[in-house]
Amino acid sequence: MSAELETALQQPQLALYGGTFDPVHLGHVHIATEAADMLDLDTVLFTPALSSPHKQGRETASGSLRAELLALATAHDPRFCVWDVELTRAGPSFTVDTIRTLRDLRGEGAGEPFLILGLDQLPAFDRWHEVEQVLELSRPIVIDRGGDHGVDPSAEFDRLEAALPRRLASLLRRGYLPLEEPHPASATEIRRALAAGEAPEHLDPAVRARIAELELYA
Ligand code: ATP
Repeated sequence: MSAELETALQQPQLALYGGTFDPVHLGHVHIATEAADMLDLDTVLFTPALSSPHKQGRETASGSLRAELLALATAHDPRFCVWDVELTRAGPSFTVDTIRTLRDLRGEGAGEPFLILGLDQLPAFDRWHEVEQVLELSRPIVIDRGGDHGVDPSAEFDRLEAALPRRLASLLRRGYLPLEEPHPASATEIRRALAAGEAPEHLDPAVRARIAELELYA
């Protein structure tokens, strides 16, 4: 582990931000920046999943490439760090395992990390592996990217409060963070554009150049 990552993992105000990041785009960086500013975070740990339990059945770019692109996209902000813990762990990347590893590294007294979630994660959230432990061991922040993603936050929080122990589910509602300026980037749209030979929007220039160099997603 690099000295930079070791230091980042010990910061008091720390958030985990997991996802596929296939590829990382300016929308991801935007929500991490907003969360870091609003919550006064010292560290945002971008944690790419080896194999997302939520996106089975689709091939992704390799974990090491996705991590390399993440490092390029996050290099400008000293609060950002890429943590490859899920890439080095076999099997589906369960968030609860990552939170436990973080807890072991930080020690019990360090307090719970924030957990950055997109609002679009909520419809399946109650089926997450050991979801109650996820909520016991972290402080969820639910970022509403705005626009038409088909998820009604208030209805979704009501549903989760019925599906899960109310005390835990209410943490999600309390962690709701609507963005003042939603970001239109979508990794699905970026992959579609690249496969069609079109110029993709909403990529960091260094990420765009590396994707072109390696002819990724073509
Ligand atoms: P895909 O299109 O491949 O499903 P994705 O960006 O939605 O890509 P992930 O890479 O797993 O999927 O995203 C990680 C998290 O970032 C998710 O919680 C998602 O809600 C959030 N997210 C993705 N794009 C944006 C955006 N433009 N604005 C705000 N949040 C976003």
